[in-house]
Amino acid sequence: MEKPDIKVYEFELFKKETDIIHGVFAREGGTSIGQFDSLNIGINSGDEYSAIASNRKLISLKMGMKPLLFLNQVHGSDIKILKKDDNDLSENFEPGKETYTADSTITDITDMFLVIQIADCQAVMLYDPQKKIIANVHSGWRGSTKNIIGSTVDNMVSEFGCNAQDILAGISPSLGPCCAEFVNYKDEIPKDLWKYKIKDKDYFDFWRMSTDQLMDKGIIKEHIENMKICTKCNTDMFYSYRGEKTTGRFACVISMK
Ligand SMILES: [Zn+2]
Repeated sequence: MEKPDIKVYEFELFKKETDIIHGVFAREGGTSIGQFDSLNIGINSGDEYSAIASNRKLISLKMGMKPLLFLNQVHGSDIKILKKDDNDLSENFEPGKETYTADSTITDITDMFLVIQIADCQAVMLYDPQKKIIANVHSGWRGSTKNIIGSTVDNMVSEFGCNAQDILAGISPSLGPCCAEFVNYKDEIPKDLWKYKIKDKDYFDFWRMSTDQLMDKGIIKEHIENMKICTKCNTDMFYSYRGEKTTGRFACVISMK
């Protein structure tokens, strides 16, 4: 049987921008088998390392052989800021491997892909076309309660002089309001976020929460695009931790030329 091609989804908002390359990789076209079928990049997923490494190479190849920067994602609120002028990256960068422990990266460095790996969590990509700054945020429900999205925008403004109204934002396929059930929400989700609970159900709308977290920081509504693809409803296309338990992680990547 012939191997299916790698499939990449793009945000319409970002496609119009000539200085960035980005993509959300669907699960097909990789080398992993079984539960991890097939383009799994998740190092802690339980999959064979050789398959993960080969999938990461496939993604780099698809993106023009550019180096991929991975984070050791811990559902925390740390943001890695990488500036052209400092030597942090040249001293530490291991392309294709987890280089820093953080859940968000912001940079003005070109020709390097910021990677977020997910299976239900959101990857939120940010781009300021005026100041030429990109960011990629990992925001699962824990990240949502910590507002790592809002903190990332704050740091784009304070560290790089961005104006929030210039920033474009894309929200990846992730757990939708149709499937985000939190039976223990009273213990897990702060009370001020209960307004995102679906009426008469224990389900939450993290898509709306993220949009509000972006808009609260001054990002305009027309500059926010949500693919609105629920991962749990679409396990044929994407990995879903809730839907499959033992599963892979798919890649969301952004780079600046
Ligand atoms: Zn769903």
